[in-house]
Amino acid sequence: MTDRSLPGPFREAVIDLDAVRRNLRTIGEGVAPAAVMAVVKADAYGHGAVPVARAALEGGAGWLGVADLHEALALRAAGIDAPVLAWLHDPDARFADAIERDVDLGVSSVAQLEAMAAAAASVDRTANVHLKLDTGLSRNGIAPEAWPAAVERAAELEAAGRIHVRGIFSHLANTSPDADAEQLAAFLRGVDEARRAGLRPELRHLASTAAALRFPEARLDLVRIGIGVYGIPPFGDGTTAADLGLTPVMTLRGRVAAVRRVGPGTGVSYNHAWRAERETTLALVPLGYADGVPRQASGRAEVLIGGRRHPVVGRIAMDQFLVDVGDDEVAVGDEVVLVGDPQVGAPSADDWGAAADTIGYEIVTRIGPRVPRTHVEDA
Ligand SMILES: *Cc1c(COP(=O)(O)O)cnc(C)c1O
Repeated sequence: MTDRSLPGPFREAVIDLDAVRRNLRTIGEGVAPAAVMAVVKADAYGHGAVPVARAALEGGAGWLGVADLHEALALRAAGIDAPVLAWLHDPDARFADAIERDVDLGVSSVAQLEAMAAAAASVDRTANVHLKLDTGLSRNGIAPEAWPAAVERAAELEAAGRIHVRGIFSHLANTSPDADAEQLAAFLRGVDEARRAGLRPELRHLASTAAALRFPEARLDLVRIGIGVYGIPPFGDGTTAADLGLTPVMTLRGRVAAVRRVGPGTGVSYNHAWRAERETTLALVPLGYADGVPRQASGRAEVLIGGRRHPVVGRIAMDQFLVDVGDDEVAVGDEVVLVGDPQVGAPSADDWGAAADTIGYEIVTRIGPRVPRTHVEDA
């Protein structure tokens, strides 16, 4: 366990695993009797896949979800044996490795289904698959026109013992409540069609965090929770984590690397995009766009130093940026919180998202490799 009251390293993303457990419990109670899949793709949205997956399972998640097979295999290599689903496949994916390690496979085409059945035969196993129907996102998934033939073929391969259709799933576009309801209806029609073909999927899943929280009819048997695990609201409408009973999991922080008093008119950082209007103090923060601090947020974002919010001024550079702390007493080595829990005064991931014309998801997911992740827990 790390003592969180001590100043951290130069740059650090502190990941609170107790907050992961709490967020999972809160969401699990809210969506019951639906089960919860914790989505830990993209290194758990930048938070560290293995420790987050363990904490999520302890918090009540029954499933883990990832995009790529290698992400699923990394969880298995770490000794995690909970059910895991991977749904975005390399055209040359080696499905046999995944089938041998009991990774469930999302299916987005008949070609994938055939490849999975052949791979299962090659290792003398049955592949557990979840057929993905495209209900309107027009992204991954089996197109509606191809669905009847796909479920027929799946039923044949199931009868032959090569696959088992454990689930049927889809993904919402979150365009509007009406559009989501249409997607749900299309999804349920697709499930009926699969049943008529003889399939008996135990798990129908459609909702990610947004629908799991606000569209109860879409919860079905299982909800796939990504951003909610990390305590970041999915809506982008000003709803806070606290409004949802969630706690932000990541605190991105660093230590002031230099402090300088400057006079009126002093130009700051590249192109002198900002000049001091009066005498003031600038604090240098040792994180930049290489660390995932978006350059787009130059002159728009704020950070927390000494319990107060201060504006980022001038261009955010690759390794560093400046903060105008006015006449506040700030010293080299002081803690700077870039992203954290607004309940303690820190800017949220969504605040940075707004400052950079993007979403909180992108802020946490793009924290760079130079920032060590420190996982803390009291439990
Ligand atoms: C990423 C992803 C999720 C999780 O979405 P959140 O909005 O982060 O909850 C769920 N399902 C699929 C298919 C995904 O790709």
